[in-house]
Amino acid sequence: MIVTRKKDVETVKKHASKARKVIIVGCSECAAICRTGGSEQVREMAEAFSDREVLATISIESPCDKRISTRDFKRIEEELADADALIALTCGSGAQAISEVTGKRVVAALDTDFVGMVERLGRFYERCSHCGECILNETALLCPVTLCPKGVRNGPCDGIKGTACEVYEDRECVWHAIHSRLTERGELEAFTVYHAPVDWSECHSPKEAVWERS
Ligand code: SF4
Ligand code: SF4
Repeated sequence: MIVTRKKDVETVKKHASKARKVIIVGCSECAAICRTGGSEQVREMAEAFSDREVLATISIESPCDKRISTRDFKRIEEELADADALIALTCGSGAQAISEVTGKRVVAALDTDFVGMVERLGRFYERCSHCGECILNETALLCPVTLCPKGVRNGPCDGIKGTACEVYEDRECVWHAIHSRLTERGELEAFTVYHAPVDWSECHSPKEAVWERS
């Protein structure tokens, strides 16, 4: 899930200062779960823009999916034609997708933080930095690229303090945790596997995944 944070409302309004007629766009998937772009936040943003004309509010199931955005914007075609700007309570991908499908000025109202694992509402944790060369099978399913603050792929680093991380002393070094888990599993030989640095020539932004339909 994409974890987002609300931008300050005054900052959002400043970016939309030239827009007199706006549409507030929410996301009923990730941003709704984060309580940054659900129906309640859409309503709050509409109130914040009460000094302008709010032509419509809309919650799109996955605004980052251009097929779904295209379909859902058909419900407010007239308002869309009239709008000066769309206020996007979505992640950065969603904001760009709705810009592309509508051709309208879009103001991003959220900051996009990370791809998160959900424990429960309000508890989201980064577990993968999408490095593109996954080593989880050799690290007992603990990601050192993400869980180590230095992203060390062959650890631990020199700074390890006993079993604790030198950066976060209240946390176990992920490489110690990997060693323990591999030991429990009887898979300690995996600890000696050397992980080559990520080939950044093959792993850089913008990434694309394109395949032909079978
Ligand atoms: S190694 Fe870590 S950052 Fe890379 S793909 Fe696997 S889980 Fe994600
Ligand atoms: S002590 Fe472990 S988790 Fe902390 S920075 Fe070093 S290798 Fe990474």
